[in-house]
Amino acid sequence: MRPDILVVDDRPANLLAMNRLLANIDATVHTASSGNEALGLTLEHDFALVLLDVQMPEMDGFETAELMRSNQETSHVPIIFVTAVSMEQSHVFKGYRTGAVDYLLKPIVPEILLSKIMVFLDLYRQKQELRETVRKLRESQKTIEMQNIILKRLTIQDDLTGAYNRRHLNKMLVQEFYRCRRYEGDFSCIMLDLDYFKNVNDTHGHQFGDFVLKEVARRITCSSRASDLVFRFGGEEFVVLMPQTDIFGTMHAAEKIRLGCASEKFKNGSIAVDVTISIGVSSFRAHQPAKPDDLVNMADKALYDAKKSGRNRVVEFDGVLLEE
Ligand SMILES: [Mg+2]
Repeated sequence: MRPDILVVDDRPANLLAMNRLLANIDATVHTASSGNEALGLTLEHDFALVLLDVQMPEMDGFETAELMRSNQETSHVPIIFVTAVSMEQSHVFKGYRTGAVDYLLKPIVPEILLSKIMVFLDLYRQKQELRETVRKLRESQKTIEMQNIILKRLTIQDDLTGAYNRRHLNKMLVQEFYRCRRYEGDFSCIMLDLDYFKNVNDTHGHQFGDFVLKEVARRITCSSRASDLVFRFGGEEFVVLMPQTDIFGTMHAAEKIRLGCASEKFKNGSIAVDVTISIGVSSFRAHQPAKPDDLVNMADKALYDAKKSGRNRVVEFDGVLLEE
C-alpha cells in the first residue's frame, strides 16, 4: 500500500513548493493550511509522516502536535517540524516519543528534506510489514487450532458413520462406571445389531450397505437424547451409553430406537429396503456389573438372546453372565 504524507503550512506558496519537492517520492502527498484542517485529516488517514509548519496563526505547529499526541488514533504518527526559528526554541516541544519527531530549518534544503522523509517512509514500511507478519501468524495459529479440534474429533470418531469409535467407548465406559460407583448413580448400555445385514450387502452392494449403516447411526442419534453417547462398536453393531438412566428408562429408549429403524424403509436412490435391529440392554444398578466391560458383555448377551428369540426386538439382560 502506498504511504500517505501530510504537509501542513499556512502559506499556499509553501505548500506548492513542498508539493513540487515531493513530486517524485513514492507516497501520496496531502496538504492542509491550518492545524485544525491537519487534525481532521489525521483522523481520516494513517499518515506515514506529517511535515508540520511551526509558525501558523491560531493554532501553531506545537499545539497541533500536542493535540495529535493526546489522541490515541494519531499519537503514533511521526512529525517533522518545519521552522524558521532556532533549534533551541524548537526544543520547547518535549515529551514526544523519541525517534518519532525531527526538525527541518527554513529555508529548506531539498536533499536534507528528502533524506529525512526517506528514513520515515522506511520506518513506516517496516511497521506495515511487521503488522502483516503478525496478522499472518495469528491466522495460521487459528488454522492450527481448528486442525487440532478436527484431529481430536477424528481420533474418537468412526469415519463412516460419524458416531464415536470403540476406543472412545472404552474411555467413556470406565468413566461412567466409576462415577456411578462413587456417586451411587446409574447408567445403562444399549447394544444393537442390524438384522440380516449380510443380505443387504449381498443383494444391494456395499455402497448401499454403507448408506444403511450411516442412516442407522443417524436414526439412533435422532431417537436418543443429547446426553446419550452413540458408538459404532463393530461392523454393524452399535452401542449407546445412557448416563443417569435406569433400566426402565433405557428399555423405553431402546424400543424407541428399534421403532425408529423398523417403521421406515431405508431408501437411497432407487433402492428401498426394510432394515430391523435387535437390541440388548443392561444397566448398572439393575445388573450390578463387577467391572466396566461387564456392562457391555451383559448387553451383548441380551442382544444374543434377542437374535435367538426372533430378532427386531428389545431384550433385557437376564441376570446371568457366563464366564468366557
Ligand atoms: Mg507558517
